[in-house]
Amino acid sequence: MPHPELINHNKQFPKGVIDIGDGCWTAVGFAASNVHMIEGDKSVAIIDTSESLKAAQNILGEFKKLTTKPIERIIYTHGHRDHISGAKVFFNGSQDIIASHKFKSDLVKTDKNSFTPLLALKKRAEAQFGMGLNSEERINIGCGPGDRPMGGLGEGYIKPNTLIEVDMDYDLDGVLARFIHAPGETEDHMAVWLPEKEILFGGDNWYHAFPNLYAIRGTTYRDFGKWADSLKLLAELNPEVLVPGHTLPQFGREKIRELLETTREMIIFLMEKTAKGLDAGIPLDDIVTEIELPEHLASRPWLKEHYGKLSWSARAYATGLLGWYDGNPTNLGTLGTVERARLMSNLAGGLESLWVQANATQNLQWKLELCDCLIALGQPAKKLKADTMRILAESEINASARNSYLWEADNLDSNY
Ligand SMILES: [Zn+2]
Repeated sequence: MPHPELINHNKQFPKGVIDIGDGCWTAVGFAASNVHMIEGDKSVAIIDTSESLKAAQNILGEFKKLTTKPIERIIYTHGHRDHISGAKVFFNGSQDIIASHKFKSDLVKTDKNSFTPLLALKKRAEAQFGMGLNSEERINIGCGPGDRPMGGLGEGYIKPNTLIEVDMDYDLDGVLARFIHAPGETEDHMAVWLPEKEILFGGDNWYHAFPNLYAIRGTTYRDFGKWADSLKLLAELNPEVLVPGHTLPQFGREKIRELLETTREMIIFLMEKTAKGLDAGIPLDDIVTEIELPEHLASRPWLKEHYGKLSWSARAYATGLLGWYDGNPTNLGTLGTVERARLMSNLAGGLESLWVQANATQNLQWKLELCDCLIALGQPAKKLKADTMRILAESEINASARNSYLWEADNLDSNY
């Protein structure tokens, strides 16, 4: 039985176009990410374009029921593939496509001469998002619905043709907008602020889930400090409406200030706790297993670990700042997995004892580690590992972890 809190998180992406007031709408639940529309005098602007051609077509169909005005501008809040891959559906061949001058697409390229581990990235992304899992297995993807159209996934990207170098006012056909650089989840984040309407499109710097300070699909270090600073910057705008790149829009000045400030406070707590732990010589594994949010932060529904995770973030912060070496000279050397497994087996009293321990232990993390030893030694422990991951998946409120456990378990099933 999937964790009820993860099931409940589906309430954050009910499929529909939401009127956020004053000629602005957001399409939630059609795709992993939201697509927004701002109506001007004679045309509309679209902010973000979703992850696929099919989802973008569905959203455009809904938008056309609201207005027949042509699309004159497309704006990217940042270069993640789930926001840029439906652009071709909204593009007529000549509009401005606006983004930060730091814009960088993260679409995985198939350049054979690249030294980027493309296959590893692809596999991890498929695991994190539970690609191929059925709807009972994949409850959601933490930031969006599990079930959504996949036609033309990643295929509709168009490069921006108008880059914003410095924060500036921009006329969206009678609607005053301010483009504000706000690095956070990515360095290229650009928020869109409508001062006269007091509506803020914040990209992915805030959504109703623990922020993905590290993504297990394989991302480089995200600058925690800049993310916290950007949340302060956004809070100081004092918006009446906050429209995130994922999950439902938020209404009310006080509420929005609380959402942004507590998320910032959480990031600062995490940085401080991790840094102090490292300074005190606490092993990173202990920092990661022991870190906990104070109650006043842990109890906030928008900081529940449905997408990102505190422990993963602490590890990402430490290794992002200091690199892989943890300060313990033992770890200047490395045992290969087979050698470590062989020594572990000897310590346990042989393979038979290792099997007994692996079967008997109630500690599921330890069971996985023993399964890895057995598998490294050529033992048929893949089924035990797969079964263990399926049990762990059921206790997870984190969609990325749940999907990865289940996806990898299916992968092992086909390799018994
Ligand atoms: Zn996103």
